[in-house]
Amino acid sequence: MDNWWVILIIAVVVIGALALFIPKAQKPKKVDKPAPSVAKTDPSSTEVTPATPKTEAEPEPKTLDEPAAAAEVETPEPTQGRMTRLRSRLARSGSPLGSTLLKILSRDHLSEDDWEEIEETLLVADVGTTPAMELVDRLREEVRVQGISDPAKVRELLREELIRLVDPAMDRSLALEKTTQDDGTKAPAVVMVVGVNGTGKTTTVGKLARVLVADEKQPILGAADTFRAAASEQLTTWGRRVGVETVRSDKEGADPASVAFEAVEKGHQDDADVVLIDTAGRLQNKAGLMDELGKIKRVASRKGPINEVLLVLDATTGQNGLVQAKVFSEVVDVTGVVLTKLDGTAKGGIVIAVQRELGVPVKLVGLGEGADDLAPFETDAFVDGLLGAD
Ligand code: GDP
Repeated sequence: MDNWWVILIIAVVVIGALALFIPKAQKPKKVDKPAPSVAKTDPSSTEVTPATPKTEAEPEPKTLDEPAAAAEVETPEPTQGRMTRLRSRLARSGSPLGSTLLKILSRDHLSEDDWEEIEETLLVADVGTTPAMELVDRLREEVRVQGISDPAKVRELLREELIRLVDPAMDRSLALEKTTQDDGTKAPAVVMVVGVNGTGKTTTVGKLARVLVADEKQPILGAADTFRAAASEQLTTWGRRVGVETVRSDKEGADPASVAFEAVEKGHQDDADVVLIDTAGRLQNKAGLMDELGKIKRVASRKGPINEVLLVLDATTGQNGLVQAKVFSEVVDVTGVVLTKLDGTAKGGIVIAVQRELGVPVKLVGLGEGADDLAPFETDAFVDGLLGAD
């Protein structure tokens, strides 16, 4: 027992060491997820807003003051069948094209006045003069040859003729295949979204991100509409909801081309499938627009080709919208049209007019303000919607 004090000292040292060690071991581990870095050309201006829920070690995104709960990731609705699900919204507005035409065509003996009324109805629905005359001529011919009066037959005839006008042969698929680079590696597809402010451009980019997520693709968003302060916030929120990152700038009026470039670069770094670039659509004059969009396109295509340039058009703007669409198509090579707000208008005929005017297909349609109310365009479902199918 001579060594009792030695044992006592050892016991004190051991207990002390344990006391120091246990609190540290019980503390939760910090996840040291580095903030994503992108800003190479202009480090001060561009940041990536992480789409994943925040961890302790992540710095607060400077421009986002959303509650953490909003970062919960949603599962978007499947893309297939969306047009059928939403088609009834086409017939809900004021005086739907299809039902008005059916009513006139079902009259017993169609007079010249009746045919004029049909043509007028088509023009009011923004079908466009040439397509409207073509349709009337074909209907007249059919009615003369077949002498139809049975409502079901009339409907079938009109359906057939409208489908022909909308043109089911157009390729409406989005070119989203990754590009093979010189070194054999794959680069993300790049999609630029252009159009006049207010048409629903940013909303469409957000909805399109959801379409891509639903189709199991990994997109990156580029908020290159740097002129509207709210646009990048808006886009970031869309992205966060489905776990998609947004490359944006803190500075209002920052160089949109630089943001677009950073977004493409981020897409390469992350091996993303698609980079979606929102742009500003200030129609101050054609030269200014050409400068701006031309620069974005040039800079964004430094690392590879731009796969799609989608023009967003508000279906409620009629002829005015068509004139704007023409200006855009002269400035950039538009590869597809997105028609928004088709739910709130009786002017569904604009699908036909814009395709004729620009020579490019309508690829997507917006049929409401809901997050999944953007549908890949399907000719049959569209015409059925016009004709009032449920
Ligand atoms: P931007 O200025 O072109 O980016 O336009 P926004 O994306 O901010 O959209 C303008 C408004 O249009 C918003 O209130 C959207 O909710 C609305 N919007 C966009 N697409 C549709 C659609 O398909 N249907 C309806 N009813 N509203 C839409």
